[in-house]
Parts: sequence; structure tokens; C-alpha cells
Amino acid sequence: MDKKGFSVIALLFIFGALILGGTGVVYFTSKENPPVDSPESAPQNPVPVSTGNEAASTTVSSNPLPATTSPESGTGTSGKKISPLKPANLENLVQGHNDARADRINLVIVGINFSSIDELKNTGIEMLSWGGSPVRNGVAFGPFAIEPLRSNKGKFNVWYDTAIINGTTQDDIRNKAVDEEGSINKTGLKYVVPIFLNKLKQSPGINTFITPHSVGFGITLEDNSFSSLTKDKLQPKAVFVNVQEPLTSPSQLAHELGHGIFGLADEKTDSPFDKPGSAPRIRAPDCVATPADAQKLWGDMVGQVDPFYTNWKSTLQQNGQWETLFPSDVSWWKSMDDGVKVGYYYGQCYGDPNGKDAIRPTDFSIMNQSQVAVFGPVNRKQVEIVLGFFKGF
Ligand SMILES: [Zn+2]
Repeated sequence: MDKKGFSVIALLFIFGALILGGTGVVYFTSKENPPVDSPESAPQNPVPVSTGNEAASTTVSSNPLPATTSPESGTGTSGKKISPLKPANLENLVQGHNDARADRINLVIVGINFSSIDELKNTGIEMLSWGGSPVRNGVAFGPFAIEPLRSNKGKFNVWYDTAIINGTTQDDIRNKAVDEEGSINKTGLKYVVPIFLNKLKQSPGINTFITPHSVGFGITLEDNSFSSLTKDKLQPKAVFVNVQEPLTSPSQLAHELGHGIFGLADEKTDSPFDKPGSAPRIRAPDCVATPADAQKLWGDMVGQVDPFYTNWKSTLQQNGQWETLFPSDVSWWKSMDDGVKVGYYYGQCYGDPNGKDAIRPTDFSIMNQSQVAVFGPVNRKQVEIVLGFFKGF
């Protein structure tokens, strides 16, 4: 690889690390009881990659412009219907669902250090919660167990890549992931989202932990106006998630897709960015700088609650898993019933935890702590707008 190529790839990962995944320690979280899915603070992940600096960029992408070769280009000249294309190296994750020519987002599961295709397929279906219910004993809500994705499966194709990446170092895996993404982007599919599922290998001399992240934002809302979201601006980005841990890594995947497809910000704050005075990362719609911006975006939604909140909470309680995620002997989550109501919540957004430089629409959401598997009304509005770009057929 030439020096320039190496530099570009290095940059991609530096910026990728900035759009950190999962969840973080929010300011009201007690230090001795970190969220269960906080990779940055969890002691079982001894060597997370750098969380980078503040210069998050929406212009850097490892996902080039959608291929200009349309899947329809092989359909012949007579106009008669032929069977859907099957992209090279990609197979159906779920039988009878995909249609490569349909107007859909294409999710591609790519395995890292899986021992077999069957294991990869089963894990992919689990991580996506494709069945519509929470997995892992009813505690972990993957993307398709969460509304509004659950009722919009028809807007997605779900593939897996037959080429499993094997590696024993972080750099090795990252380089191979970039190469594989290049292959995927040659399939001719549009709106492709590589989902790298990392099966951890950690032993003396071997560490494959990669901090969950999206390599960029799939779309950018401009002028604090939802009407600025248009399909031609959508360029989904690849996401990385470790599959075994935390327990809620399926909902961490949903969080990453919140960045990589829907362009949502990180509402959390992690060390070392939780120092007083550190500048937040402002990004609409869920991390804005001024009350006027917030009012423009969600002033008409104040007091609303995402209807999925009730469903999610009661499901966890019915499954006997509420206590697993929200133990009664800690207090950080106990204002959740109020904090999921749209309002004006100051601070965080990767900055001063008690500052006035960032305003969020809800105090709790999946973009803040992914074990709260609820987008919240403002984020959900953006997700629904983007899903509305696709006919599904
Ligand atoms: Zn994130």
C-alpha cells in the first residue's frame, strides 16, 4: 500500500473513533455502577482505542459514493422481469426476504473471527433482533426489536458476506475491514451499510477489541430543519460492534446505526470529555447549541414521549430483565419516566456534563445510553423521515 493510501485509511479510523459507539457514562451515573454497555469504562475491555479528539467530521467517509452501477443494469432490454441479482460474495441472511432491485437500505453483516458461516448467520440474526423481540433472554433490543425499525423491515435487505475476516490485532482487522468494504461497494447495491460484527479474541499477545463505532454520519440535518433531509444526501456508513459484550451489544448496534444511517449525534459524555468546560459536539437534531435551535427543532414536541418507551419498559419487566439493566440499588436511571419526555436538557453531548453549551431533547435515549433502547420523539422523527425515503419494493 502506498503512503497516501495508508494515510487515508489511518485518517478514516482516527475519525471513525470519534463517532463513538455504544453508550457512555452520563453525568448522573455513579462511578461504581457504570452502565452495562459502556465500552469506554468497562474493565473487561482493557485496551479500547483512543476516543480521539473533538474534531468529529461528517465529511470523512470510508464509504465512497454509492456505486453508479445500478442493480437494475443487468435486467436486459426486453423489459421482462428477471430474478433479482445476487451480489458477488453476498448471500441472503434471511431466506425469502431480500430483493436486490428493490428501493431499500442494504445491510451487510461482515464477520470478524467467526469460526463458521452458520455461526455468523445466527449471530447476525441475533444482533439485528430480526425476529422482532429482544434477544439474550429478553434483555437486549437489537435494531429490529425497536420501533420504528421493527415495523419497517421491508425497507431493508439483509445480507451476509461469505468472506469472514480473521485477525489477531486491531490494526490487522481494521485494514482487512477497509479492504472488504471496498469489495462490498463494488456489488452495485445502493445505500449499503456494512455491519462489522467483531467476535473478540483476547489472550496474552492477542487483542482484537475495537471500540464500537460508526465511521461517520449517514446524513446531516441542516439549518435545524427536518425538511433539509433528502434522499440524495443519504450516504450510510459502516459500523463496528463487538458481539459478546456488553450484554446489550444488540442495542449498541442500533445506536451505531443511529449514527451510520440516520445521522444522529452522541448525546452521552464519556471521560475524558466530561470535564467542566470541555466543548460539546454540536450536531442536530439531538445536540444543539442554543435554546432557539432547540425550539425550532422540537418546540412543538415538548412533553411528548416516544410511544415505544412504554412497550420497551413493560417488555423488560415482563421478561424479568428490568432489574438487570436498572438495578434498584442505583439511582442514575430513576428519573427516566420524566427524562424521556421531550424538553430542554442541558449538557453532555461529549462535552461539559453540567454546562450550558449543548441542549438535548430528552435526558434518556438510545443515543445517550444504548441500554435505553428508545430513540425518543425527536430522534425517531429523523429516523422515520429517512425510512420514508424508501419504498421497500
Ligand atoms: Zn455513538
